[in-house]
Amino acid sequence: MTLTPNSFATCVACIGLNFCFIGNMQVMIDIVDRQTRSRMMSGIRGKNTKPELALRRALHARGLRYRIHSKEILGCPDIVFPQYQALVFVHGCFWHRHENCRYATTPASRQEFWQAKFAANVRRDKTVRKALLLNGWRISIVWECALRKPDQVVTTAAAINDWLLSGNKLLEL
Ligand SMILES: [Zn+2]
Repeated sequence: MTLTPNSFATCVACIGLNFCFIGNMQVMIDIVDRQTRSRMMSGIRGKNTKPELALRRALHARGLRYRIHSKEILGCPDIVFPQYQALVFVHGCFWHRHENCRYATTPASRQEFWQAKFAANVRRDKTVRKALLLNGWRISIVWECALRKPDQVVTTAAAINDWLLSGNKLLEL
């Protein structure tokens, strides 16, 4: 297979979309060294990651009910609140390039490859967000660094709860 920054495998969890990180992972896993791989594994946007599970538990504890990983919705949002027309994406800081975040590091080797890849990720996130907003969804982006400690998880869940009731279109935590 020829590997370029834009050659993505198609992910079964995101039928019709060819940019899912689960798919990407299978392509990239073979071409990076062990250190980079472990960094990728810790930052990959998988489903049911530890921070995501912690957030879901905290939301559930507040009495909120939701669906998860909806394949019918663009971008496979992690958490869906149908009654609020609201979606939550839990974003890994590395992959989604959290601005000014210490976890949004860049691997030392193949810098050009990574820069192109990151730029594509950011572009794609923007496109998905725009399309979802146009379709009437409200969107909350939760960066994984906001879910590192238990008290942060509680605060984040409370903020999402308030946001759901507020009717605001966007929330970034
Ligand atoms: Zn971050």
